[in-house]
Amino acid sequence: MNLIFFGPPGAGKGTYASRLKDDYALAHISSGDMLREAVKESSSLGLKAKEYMAKGDLVPDELVIQIVVNRIQKPDCQKGFILDGFPRTSVQAQKLEQALSGKKRQIDLVVYFETSEKVVVSRLCGRRICSKCGQNYHVTNIPPKEEGICDLCGAELYQRVDDNEDTIKTRLSVYQQQTEELINYYKDKGVLKTVSGDNELSQGLETMKELLNKVQSE
Ligand code: ADP
Ligand code: ZN
Repeated sequence: MNLIFFGPPGAGKGTYASRLKDDYALAHISSGDMLREAVKESSSLGLKAKEYMAKGDLVPDELVIQIVVNRIQKPDCQKGFILDGFPRTSVQAQKLEQALSGKKRQIDLVVYFETSEKVVVSRLCGRRICSKCGQNYHVTNIPPKEEGICDLCGAELYQRVDDNEDTIKTRLSVYQQQTEELINYYKDKGVLKTVSGDNELSQGLETMKELLNKVQSE
């Protein structure tokens, strides 16, 4: 089962992916996480991507496409994957389709997390991330048991450099201008399902499990 989690920044794509992947034996592929990893390592990709990310702009297609297409060929993606944050442009969507069809694979479901702007902004401002395992938290919505500390691994939580008000505005407008149109692309292919991204996590997870169970049994 190959899935795309689609929606604006702050819709909950990464949170749902990390909480569902084990139950369905799916690899969680976050283009943003891979890019942040590259920035941390100061690899040549990281050095190229850093400025775009800090401003909230998209990293150029050719850089992102390459890392994602390589990633989905890895053995842990054989049983299926969740793409989170990719594709974000129509070029990326087309290249993904080419890469998959060459391997006789396909996208089975695109979940669109339709989310109001108010919710998105409050989530991004309050988001905290584990520095070791990457688990997402929120200062009020999903607080860790102990402030600033990851429930899962005990490491410190941090706030992403692009989770500030100005950069959040840029990211939302980039989404509206370059990414949102992909909804129609996947609707036309008949694989798009829309869920509310505004829901609380536990309720959203129930909805998602029903959806994934259905796709899995088809
Ligand atoms: P969010 O969805 O919350 O904005 P991500 O972690 O998905 O966060 O992305 C963070 C940043 O990484 C983006 O603002 C962009 O600069 C870069 N990025 C991630 N995925 C892509 C992509 N598919 N294409 C271009 N840039 C990307
Ligand atoms: Zn952790």
